[in-house]
Amino acid sequence: MWVEIDPHSGFCFGVVRAIDLAEQELQRSGKLLCLGDIVHNGAEVQRLQEGGLETIYYEELDRYPAQRIMFRAHGEPPSTYEKARGLGMEIIDATCPVVLQLQRKVKRSGEVLKLQGGQIIIFGKPDHAEVNGLLGQTDCDCYVVQTPDDLTTIDFRRPTECFSQTTMSARDYKALTDQIEVRMRALSSEAPPPLVIHASTCGQVANRHESLARFAQQHDAILFVSGKKSSNGKMLFEECRSVNPHTYFIVGTEDIPLADLAGVARLGICGATSTPRWLMEAVAKRVEATYPNPS
Ligand code: SF4
Repeated sequence: MWVEIDPHSGFCFGVVRAIDLAEQELQRSGKLLCLGDIVHNGAEVQRLQEGGLETIYYEELDRYPAQRIMFRAHGEPPSTYEKARGLGMEIIDATCPVVLQLQRKVKRSGEVLKLQGGQIIIFGKPDHAEVNGLLGQTDCDCYVVQTPDDLTTIDFRRPTECFSQTTMSARDYKALTDQIEVRMRALSSEAPPPLVIHASTCGQVANRHESLARFAQQHDAILFVSGKKSSNGKMLFEECRSVNPHTYFIVGTEDIPLADLAGVARLGICGATSTPRWLMEAVAKRVEATYPNPS
């Protein structure tokens, strides 16, 4: 069996940066708190925990006064910074620069829209940390929508600005904003209220769709390696499966469907923006131990 790892899969630069910062700190002091999982991949979290990283949650902050804490690539709302500073904590901020820029835009738009009686719509997952960080930037009316059905309760006679969580599908965002546009036109007999659609999906994710689809087409079967909590992983897995029905979602080496791979000549291994390279390599090695490479 020929086994190939997708050269474009693996950590995005925001995750690489966060993990580099954590590793530097762990090398220096051997200990670091992280607010939430540093990356949505259990195997990578476990590797860092073995090096001294401790994952804690917002409700637990009071138990760790005056300690160093990392904020991960997803970003945090201003209230989390205030809380940590109030506890005398030192913040190591690993918020991805792309997310930071998006937070600033939401804040600016919120200031203007509030004066105009307008609203913000965020296409994303309601409980996702990045969305929580975006909502915290403004006290203007904000609605999180995940599907077109969520639009039914929103009043589209108001000025509206739309943003997307960075890891959502650009195609789905376009379909949703098209619907918003239609609704706004339908409600107004004259000129519809202003609608601004911000292109805020992350290029690091968007660029992977095409290359991943090509990669999936070029192989007889695909092992898609990802943590179960990764929304980007779920989306990219579906992308692979839509072009190659022999695509298997696996978390790591322990759930490789070895029996199902019998007879596969070309196997592709790929993953999400939160999948470590070392894990995809371990999967390849495990498969090759059962189905050796012909060369
Ligand atoms: S997916 Fe994009 S926005 Fe999100 S952490 Fe990675 S580089 Fe940053």
